[in-house]
Parts: sequence; C-alpha cells; structure tokens
Amino acid sequence: MKQIQIAIDGPASSGKSTVAKIIAKDLGYTYLDTGAMYRAATYLALQNNLTAEQVDDLLDLLDQYPISFGRSEEGEQLVFVADVDITHPIRDNQVTNNVSWVAALAPVREKLVTLQQAIAAEGGIVMDGRDIGTVVLPHAELKIFLVASVEERAERRYKENVEKGITADLELLKKEIAERDYKDSHRVVSPLKPAADAIHFDTTGVGIADVVAFIEEKAKKLLDKE
Ligand code: C5P
Repeated sequence: MKQIQIAIDGPASSGKSTVAKIIAKDLGYTYLDTGAMYRAATYLALQNNLTAEQVDDLLDLLDQYPISFGRSEEGEQLVFVADVDITHPIRDNQVTNNVSWVAALAPVREKLVTLQQAIAAEGGIVMDGRDIGTVVLPHAELKIFLVASVEERAERRYKENVEKGITADLELLKKEIAERDYKDSHRVVSPLKPAADAIHFDTTGVGIADVVAFIEEKAKKLLDKE
C-alpha cells in the first residue's frame, strides 16, 4: 500500500506532537518527535557543562550516547541516550530554556537531520518539529504548519504541568514560549518557518480531534489518489 510522509511544523506547544502521535497511530506509521532529539542533545550538553563553543565535544557525546526511542508498557514513547531513560528529564525547565541555543548549532542539526532522514526512509512517517517541511523532508506529500495564540499555548502548557504535578506560573510560561518562538524563528540555520507548500492551520480554540480530522482528511485524499 502507498505510504506518505507527513511533516507537521509549528511553534512551541501548538499541539504538533499530540496530533502527530494520533495520526501516526491511526495510519500505522512511525511517529518521530524531532524536538525530543534536540532536547536529548541539550540534556547531554547540560549534564557535561558544555557551552556553544564546545560543539565538537557535544558531537562526540552524541556518538557515545546515541539517541533512541522506545515504548513503555503503557504505550508512552520513551527517549534514551545510550541506555539512559531521559523521557522525563528532557521536559524539565532547564532543558526547555536551553534547547534553543543547542538547536541553533549547525553541526548538531546536521547530525540530527541525517538521523531523522534515515528513520523517514524506512516507510510511512509522521514527523513533527520546526524544519521538517523545509529541510528534513522537503518532498513530504503533506506539510502542515500549526499555529495558536501565545495565550492558548501557555494555558495548554500550564494545564499539562499542573496535571504532572509540576508547579507553573502562567505569565512566566507565556514569556518563555514567546522567547523560544523568537529564538527558533530568528536563528540563522533552519529557522522555524512554514514551507511554501505547507497548509496553515490555526488551532486556537480548536479541539485536538478536529485538528486530527482535518489532517487525516488531507492524508486520505493523497492516499486515495493512486
Ligand atoms: O517540539 P519541542 O518544543 O519539544 O522542541 C524543542 C526545541 O527543539 C524547539 O524549541 C527548537 O529549538 C528545537 N527544534 C528544532 N527543530 C526541530 C524540532 C525542535 O530546532 N525540528
């Protein structure tokens, strides 16, 4: 059966990973959370007190502690560096607030993009990130660019944190999200931006099920074409 590549890009907390996971499951495709890979690289950098000037050391660490994905018994996607489970630590504020400088390092991106493309070459894929439609999978059959207001994105993150028992401050979250968006879209290498052929979707006030249905309808049309 024909398989396609679905690229979902957009700013922080725009709902990309939630919808990407559901779509991948429904289609029986692989889901790849590229943000988790940049977070894993950031975790390694912070654990080893590296600065942006020490990018060669970070590349060595990425060879020594390769990033991989697994699944828990409950079906949760797990992230590893070598055999260390870093699923939860990579969501910590410290990683979140440092990931933009690590993700701006060209050699790190080169390395991770090569890995992402190798995973995509194996078959049907739903990949989410910032540069999937522009750089990683420029020939993806379906490209979606999800946006949502900063207020709503901060509220989503706030609720997630509260549910996880993490203390959160809504105003601070707004500020952090806006700052990360700015850094991600103003960096020199592979900035966050929609591909010219991406379909834009504003998820402000739209439920997850409706976003999924919108994307799956587009996917179905492409799959029915042949
Ligand atoms: O998607 P998530 O918010 O987990 O991504 C964390 C960070 O990783 C982003 O803020 C961005 O700096 C970086 N990233 C990136 N390119 C991607 C995915 C994420 O630069 N494809």
